[in-house]
Amino acid sequence: MSLTLPRVYSQDHLVWKGSGDGILSLKASYNYLRTSYELQMWCNYLWKKFIPPKFSMTVWRILQHRIPSDDILRSRGICIVSVCALCDNASVSETMDHLFVECVFAQQIWRWLSSLFRLKLPPLYYTSELWDWIVSRRFSPQLFNLWLTISCYAFYSIWKTRNRLRFEDEKPSFRQVQMDTMAHLHFFAKFCPGFVRYGMDRDILVDLGIPWQLGKAPKIIILSWRPPPIDWIKVNTNGLAKGNPGPAACGGVFRNYYGDFFGGFGLALGHQSSFFSKIMAVILAIEIAYNNGWLNLWLESDSLLVVQLLLSDSLLPPWTLHNRWLNCKNLISKMNFRWTHAFREVNSVADALANLDLFCDSLHWWSTYPSSLVACYCSAAIFCSLRAVSPVFMLLPAI
Ligand SMILES: [Zn+2]
Repeated sequence: MSLTLPRVYSQDHLVWKGSGDGILSLKASYNYLRTSYELQMWCNYLWKKFIPPKFSMTVWRILQHRIPSDDILRSRGICIVSVCALCDNASVSETMDHLFVECVFAQQIWRWLSSLFRLKLPPLYYTSELWDWIVSRRFSPQLFNLWLTISCYAFYSIWKTRNRLRFEDEKPSFRQVQMDTMAHLHFFAKFCPGFVRYGMDRDILVDLGIPWQLGKAPKIIILSWRPPPIDWIKVNTNGLAKGNPGPAACGGVFRNYYGDFFGGFGLALGHQSSFFSKIMAVILAIEIAYNNGWLNLWLESDSLLVVQLLLSDSLLPPWTLHNRWLNCKNLISKMNFRWTHAFREVNSVADALANLDLFCDSLHWWSTYPSSLVACYCSAAIFCSLRAVSPVFMLLPAI
C-alpha cells in the first residue's frame, strides 16, 4: 500500500484498520469481528408501523420456515401422517409452500384478493416467490401500503383457517374469509399512510370504498451552473461507486468565467465507497489546480458531506486519505479558495467524466472536451435544470 507523507508537521497516531475513519470504538470492533450477511429486502416491507405485529410475525415465521407445518415438523424428526386438510384430498401432503401457495383454498384467496386490486396472479410455486411478487407491485404509496397489509393478513388468515380445521374441526369457509378480509381492509385503511399518484389507483380505492389522499404539490426550484468571477477558475467534481462499495471512479471539470473548458480529469479507484470517491475527486481537483497555478479556485461538489468535511476540523475522511487530505488543506491555505454545494442536476459534466473513467487505472486528463460528451456539456452550460424538491415524483418538462 502506498502511503502519502504529510507536508505539515503532525503527531503520529495509531489507526484502527477495521473502520473507515481509523478510530477504534466498540461498534467498529464488533462490526469487524462479526459475520455480516446481506440485508434481506423483505425486511423493509414486513416491519411497518401500520401492519399489526401478529400479521408481520406470522409472515416472518413463514419466510423463515419457522411455522409448524407438517413438512417442517417431519424435518425435525416428528413422524406424522400428513394430509392437507384444506384441499380435502388424501393424496396431497401438507408442505408450507403447498399450504400458502398451491392449495386450492389459498389459490382461491389470492386470486380474489388480486382481483380486488386489479392484478392477475401469475403461476407461483413457492412462498418466497409469492412474497416477492406481492412486494414488487407498483402502486401509489397509499394503495401499496394497504395491499401489503392485507396480504400479510391473508397469510395469517390461511394459517388460522388451517389450525381451526385441524384442532377444532371447524370447516373452512371461503365466504367467511372474504367477509373477515373486507372488514379488516376497511379497518387497516384508516392507518395506512401515503397518497395516490395514479388515476387507476384512485379508482381501485374508490371501488373498495376507501377515501384516497392526494400528495402535496411539489415545490420546483430552477437550477443552473453559475460561472466564477472573471479571474477565477471553477471546478465541479463528482465521485461514484456502482454498488457503494463497488467499482468506483471520480472526475472533475475546470471552467472559467465564460464557461470555457479548461480541462477535465477522471480516475478509476477500484473497489471503494461513494464517500471515498467524492473525497478523492476533491483532492485531485485541488492538487491539479495548485500545480497549474490556478490559485483563485471555486470548488463545487454535489456531496453535502464532502462540503461539510471541508468546513469542519472534527469530521474525518477515511483514514487511508487522512494525510493526503491534510496536505490538500495546506494547499488551500495558500490559495483564494471557496466551495459550494450543488444539486446533481448542475453537476452532470463531472458525473459524465467520472463515468468515462470507471475502468481506467491511471489519471486521465482531457485538455479538450471529449467529443462523446459534447451534448452533455452544452446542456449543462446553456440550459437550466428543474428539480422537484418535495415530494420527489413529478414529470419534468423535456429541455
Ligand atoms: Zn391443500
